[in-house]
Amino acid sequence: MIFLPGLFLSVLNTQMFVAPINKYHTAFRSILIYYKPIFNLVFPATCIHCSRELLSEESYLCWCCEVGFKHTGFENQKVPTPLDQLFWGRVPVYQTFALLYFQKGSATQSVLHELKYGHKPQLGIIMGRKIAEAFFLNTRGKTIEVLIPVPTHHKKKFVRGYNQSEKIAQGISRLTNIPIDNTFIFKRKQTESQTKKTNTERWSNVSGGFRQRGQNGYKYKHIAIVDDVITTGATLEALIKEIKQVNPMIEISIFAIAMAK
Ligand SMILES: [Zn+2]
Repeated sequence: MIFLPGLFLSVLNTQMFVAPINKYHTAFRSILIYYKPIFNLVFPATCIHCSRELLSEESYLCWCCEVGFKHTGFENQKVPTPLDQLFWGRVPVYQTFALLYFQKGSATQSVLHELKYGHKPQLGIIMGRKIAEAFFLNTRGKTIEVLIPVPTHHKKKFVRGYNQSEKIAQGISRLTNIPIDNTFIFKRKQTESQTKKTNTERWSNVSGGFRQRGQNGYKYKHIAIVDDVITTGATLEALIKEIKQVNPMIEISIFAIAMAK
């Protein structure tokens, strides 16, 4: 009961009763901030990898697990990286960057799993910021006009509550101010009939489950596709082929949290 005045003031301060929906979000945030110390006392935050109780300055991962990340070091590599080489002979790519190497049982795997299935959108934003901090040094990446998160089908997005690639892109965008375009290309329904496909003439050619509006293809000269993890590169290959079919001259870069080693 002693916390009720605080709750009441939080609500009043944010004009919850008269504000539009974004104000509700602000009100909810202020309530969360007010009660966070109490909440943490009852339900202490734990590391998503080793389950150890987190210190107040740690988020999602404890310090020990975070220093165990296997960084690729691609930002310092002058010769083509293994990620560059993954796309050789498949699709033309301007530049690629993955922050970490993915290994089974590693903290990186826990991060990717929790981002995808653990409903932790903020984790994607944190990792996106780390990508930007590592990659966007000096003039690198200056010609990139827009970030394109790898699209997910809207049903999958509805179930998860967000697209994890979009959250990573948001983290990159917050540091670089490069805008995000979620309408550039779509993930089509896997079960879409061939009949329906041929009837929609305004859509470009369909390949690998992605489709693009023809007029979208010439909006940009240099885009960066943002993904969570790259294993075989098959998804990105299909995506890039679709984009290049509409506009063969477009430059495409790739950013990901991790690549399989
Ligand atoms: Zn840990």
